[in-house]
Amino acid sequence: MAPAFKRGDRLVVASHNAHKLVEIGEMVAPFGLSVVSAGELGIPEPEETGTTFAENAEIKALAVAKAANLPALADDSGLVVEALGGAPGIYSARWAGPGKDFAMAMKKVADRLDALGASRPEHRRAAFVAVLCLAFPDGATRNFAGEVTGHLVYPPRGENGFGYDPMFVPDGHEETFGELPPETKAGFSHRARAFARFAEEMLVR
Ligand code: IMP
Repeated sequence: MAPAFKRGDRLVVASHNAHKLVEIGEMVAPFGLSVVSAGELGIPEPEETGTTFAENAEIKALAVAKAANLPALADDSGLVVEALGGAPGIYSARWAGPGKDFAMAMKKVADRLDALGASRPEHRRAAFVAVLCLAFPDGATRNFAGEVTGHLVYPPRGENGFGYDPMFVPDGHEETFGELPPETKAGFSHRARAFARFAEEMLVR
């Protein structure tokens, strides 16, 4: 497929999460697109009623593409813990409650693993998963998925990143995403991998 975007084209990033906006903004920057966030356009966040990352990404991207009458890129992502049957998964943000208390959410994950006797790294396997959905005002959508695997530690370590980063040790590293420099995370994170697929198909450098 021919790339859908060239330098100067407008793209709305359909996220209200400031950390994700920064990460996605940095990924888009080299391609010279004119990026604006849904928040800046005053477009509210729709309710995430889907049952998969892909469905929720599509709901968010389509709502914004239609409201803005511009192509929109949304991300739905989360932490998938093997021993917990994939939880918190699409509920990753919701586990932190309305106050976005990720110290509490990380403790909840660790407590559930402890309750299962999952103390060794191989029993604490997890993945961060991201699905980016690109939606157009006419309702067309394209999804791009990315994943990074690793294991979970507790207590959390490091101040970098956000969400569950301080308890996630990506494979091939000793440090958590909370300890690794942001540029290291940006090199191979779930979101970076999904974005690389999007860029390869849809963008011109
Ligand atoms: P969403 O905004 O509904 O997609 O929620 C995604 C949630 O998953 C975030 O609020 C975080 O809790 C978690 N999450 C997604 N990506 C990351 C990441 O890169 N690091 C840490 N947590 C993440």
